[in-house]
Order: sequence, then C-alpha cells, then structure tokens
Amino acid sequence: MQQSSSPVEPPPSPTLSASQLSTLRELGEERTAETGEVLYRVGDRDYPFIVIVEGEAAILDSAGNEIVRHGASGFLGELNLLSGQTVFVTAVVTEPVRYIAVPREALRTLLYEDGPLSDVVLSAFIARREGLQRVSGLGLEIVGPHSSKATMRMVDFARSNRLPLTWRDPERVGDPAVAALVEGLDEAKLPLVRLPGGTELLGPSPGEVSRALGIGRELAPREEVDLLVVGAGPAGLGAAVYGASEGLDTLVIDGTGLGGQAGASRRIENYLGFPAGISGTELTSRAVTQAVKFDARLATPYRAKSLEPGDGRHVVRLEDDREIAARAVVIATGAQYRRLPIDDLDQYEGMSVFYAAGPPEAQLCGAARVAVVGGGNSAGQAAVWLSRGGALVTLLHRRADLRETMSDYLVRELDRYGVAVRDSSEIAALHGTDGQLEAVSLKGGARLRLSYLFLFLGALPCTDWLADAVERDGDGFIRTGAAAGADNLLETTVRGVFAAGDVRSGSTKRCATAVGEGAWAVQLVHAHLA
Ligand SMILES: Cc1cc2nc3c(=O)[nH]c(=O)nc-3n(C[C@H](O)[C@H](O)[C@H](O)COP(=O)(O)OP(=O)(O)OC[C@H]3O[C@@H](n4cnc5c(N)ncnc54)[C@H](O)[C@@H]3O)c2cc1C
Repeated sequence: MQQSSSPVEPPPSPTLSASQLSTLRELGEERTAETGEVLYRVGDRDYPFIVIVEGEAAILDSAGNEIVRHGASGFLGELNLLSGQTVFVTAVVTEPVRYIAVPREALRTLLYEDGPLSDVVLSAFIARREGLQRVSGLGLEIVGPHSSKATMRMVDFARSNRLPLTWRDPERVGDPAVAALVEGLDEAKLPLVRLPGGTELLGPSPGEVSRALGIGRELAPREEVDLLVVGAGPAGLGAAVYGASEGLDTLVIDGTGLGGQAGASRRIENYLGFPAGISGTELTSRAVTQAVKFDARLATPYRAKSLEPGDGRHVVRLEDDREIAARAVVIATGAQYRRLPIDDLDQYEGMSVFYAAGPPEAQLCGAARVAVVGGGNSAGQAAVWLSRGGALVTLLHRRADLRETMSDYLVRELDRYGVAVRDSSEIAALHGTDGQLEAVSLKGGARLRLSYLFLFLGALPCTDWLADAVERDGDGFIRTGAAAGADNLLETTVRGVFAAGDVRSGSTKRCATAVGEGAWAVQLVHAHLA
C-alpha cells in the first residue's frame, strides 16, 4: 500500500453514534476480517454498507495509493452504494476489524426512514464522490483523441454524470503506449473505455457504458406509463417526486444524466431552506434518492427524439428506437449553454474550454490564467469558485457595468476573491495548439494570455426534438397557458402535455421555480387523467 500521491484533501470520515450502530446491527450481520483482507475491490458490482465496530480499514485507488482510513464507528462507501454503480476503489483491512455488513437494499430503506442517519450518511457519500472526482487515475479510463467526436461525447457524459474519470488523449499525452492503444481505430471504434475492474469496450455508446457500470436502467422496446417526464433537472425531478408519491406510475428519462443544469452548479445560494447554500450535486443527489424512494423509475441516458400526440396516450420515441406511450407527459428538457460564434471552438471544447466549473476543472486550473465569460450569476459563481481554487481569474462580459446583470452580493465576492473584471469585452478569436488554449483576442484588438476559458453565455431551449408537436415561441421555448389556448398555466397546445422549468416560455430560470413547476404540473396531470 502506498501513501496517496494526490494533493487532494482526504474525503470526510464521520462517525455514527452507539444507537445508530445498534439500529444497523439489527439490519445487518456482524463479521470479522484480518489485516490485509480485502472487503471489496475496484470493479466489484455489489458490496454491502460496512460500519466498523473496531479496527481500521483503508480505501485505495486502483494503483494501490491510499486515499483515506476509516476507524471505529466510521463507515465505508460512497454514492455508488445507492446508485448501484460498479465500485471505483478498494477497501483493505489495516487493523483487524469487527464490522457490520448491511445489505444495500436494507440501507436504502433505512435511509428513507431514519432522518438523522440519512443526513450523516448521504452527506458523507456525496462529499466522498466529490473527493473521488479529484483523484486522478480513478474510475472510468477513456482513451481517445480530442479530435474524435465520440470521445468528446463520452468525456462529456462521464463529467455530467459526475463519474470519476481519467481521460488519456493520444494527441496530447505524448506517450507512445497510450497512442498504441487506439492506433488505427476508426471513429466507430473510438474511444476505448476501460471500466473499473479492467473490462474494455471499443466505441461504446454512453448508454452501454452506463449499463455496464450498473447505473442505467434498461427500458423495454415499448413502455406504457401514466406519466412520462422528459428531462431530469430540478423540474423533472420535482415532477417525479410528486408524481410517484401521489401514486402515478412515473417514468423519467434524460438524454445525459440526472440533475440537469442544477447538478453542474457549484453552489446554489438562493434555494429556500439552505441558508449556507447547497451544492448542485448534493441538491440533485438528494432529489434523485427521494424520487427513487417513492418508486419513480429514472432511466438514463435515453434521449427523446419525437413526440406524437395521441388520443388516450402520447407516444415519445427515443433515439434508440424505443417508444414510451404515456397518458400524460411533462416536458422538462431545460436549456443548453450558448456557444461562442467562433469556427474552431470545438477544437478546444472539453480540453481548455468548458461550460461548467466543477472540482476537476478547479484542480486543472490551479495557478493558471483563466477567463470566465458572461455577466450572469452563474458566471460570477464560477469565477469565485475557480479563484478560490487558486486560478488567476478574469471575468469578461459585454456590458459597460456588471451590476446590470449580476447580483450585488456576487459582484462583491468577485472583488473579495481577487477576480479581475473586464467590462465591454467580447472574444473574437482563440489561439493555441492541439486543443490547448494559449491566448484569446478580443474584438477591439487586445490579446490576453489564457490557458482556460469558461463560457456562461446563457442558454437555448432543448426543444428541437419536438418539431411542431407543440407550439413554441420565437426563441424556441414552449408556449403554455393562455398563449397556448390552455386553461392552466403549464399545459401546452396539446392536452395532457405539460411543460415545466426553463424550457417553458416566460418561466423564471431558477431552481426553485423549476422544482415548483414540476410539482405543480403533477396536480394538473391528475386533473387531466381524471
Ligand atoms: C452553472 C449554473 C449555475 C446556476 N446557479 C443557480 C443558482 O444559484 N440558483 C438558481 O436558482 N438557479 C441556478 N441556475 C439555473 C438553474 O440550474 C436552472 O434554472 C434549472 O436547472 C432549470 O431546471 P430544469 O429542470 O428546467 O432544466 P435543466 O436543469 O436544464 O434540466 C433539463 C434536463 O433535460 C435533459 N434533456 C434535454 N433534452 C432532452 C431530450 N431530448 N431527451 C431527454 N432529456 C433531455 C437534459 O439532459 C437535462 O438534464 C444555474 C445554472 C447553471 C448552468
């Protein structure tokens, strides 16, 4: 066992109280293990929730580097214990242990029933997953060049699902061994994906990887449900929780992962009930757990490609030729980031140009020159987050005064964390080689040396898949309520098809309103079905 080479802070190791231990003892089995015994290893498909009564165990990455140790009253595990994903780390005994092993299903039920235990365990799981994302050499290994669209799609998929990943780009690493792995492979066979445990897949779709990791639920070629929710951001998850808890057979699909844009937010400061703010990962992980608790079925990655309104049932067809017939549909597909109108932007995307600033990006950007582009609150949050991570951050925005578009508290935070603000600035060209940005030119001629760029330029609605199935406004957002000839605010031009959240014309683009609209849509679904 080696000491961790990673400069990353160890993930949290909270302890459980004596009464919590005795609750868990009733549900599990007490076992012992000797020093050196492996409790579970990278690639295992299943493992129990382990609570240490006495002794100690270490968590190692796949190369044997130690990440953290857990002792008496501590517990092992992270988010994959709930999601069913393959294990990313190995747990090995470092001092003889007596431990309680609780089957995953029993833990899941207990977390629904025991609030205080659920708080400790869930918060630790979520923080550990955030920590694991910062450890290099862990999780999925993706080998493929940034010039391959399939490779970039896979990297995006892993990032948006917050899967720990290592991306080896043969066009960049200069390692002949990495280049040899994918030499001569055509685009259809790219990327090479190595799963935890060593299984290799050539040119898999995100769905295949998702199911191989044990995350994805396989849908039947035709599903029939009461309520289909398309999109699993805050609006879709809101509809899922209320739909399923009120007895509707509810299926949620998402083309990427669970959580939507909110899942990408570093810190949501204005969500009711969280005065200290809450990370997007935590908010959406909690919502997903809650939706599953009420028996909503969540399936990813399944992208809707058309909607055919029907009499008793509406049919949504998916990209892989499956179809879902639903008595009511809630469209919650949100909006997608706007890109810069620059020809060679895609050469840099995913390498040095990003649309979200999470832990891996913050680590990448430490001590580097970085620009965040945009004048909204999401740009301000990203700039502060990156600056706190040690990057030298400049915020570029188009207007003359940032206060026109950004909340005052964030403008003050920018100042506090040393973010340089450049007003009236628009990027005209990017300069660099092999996807690595070196500088940008601004309209007006100035040239800024930069290694990374984060774009927060607003969003376009994800509604192309609907064609003219429902009416949309001039910008593509879905018309509802009076504008759609409906007698309630969320119904579209088709009876039984509702829109909620950012995708809806005129909606307030905020998490809380998206959740509220999702919940409200369910009440309207009930009225429609009645
Ligand atoms: C970086 C950032 C920070 C933010 N910070 C805050 C904040 O502090 N406070 C706040 O209130 N708001 C914040 N927001 C805004 C907030 O996240 C959004 O208003 C909210 O996520 C909208 O929720 P939604 O469910 O309507 O859509 P989204 O969150 O956009 O979710 C839509 C989902 O639909 C899926 N989808 C799209 N098309 C399809 C298809 N054809 N088939 C299947 N699935 C599809 C997408 O993959 C996505 O998961 C922030 C946004 C960003 C990007």
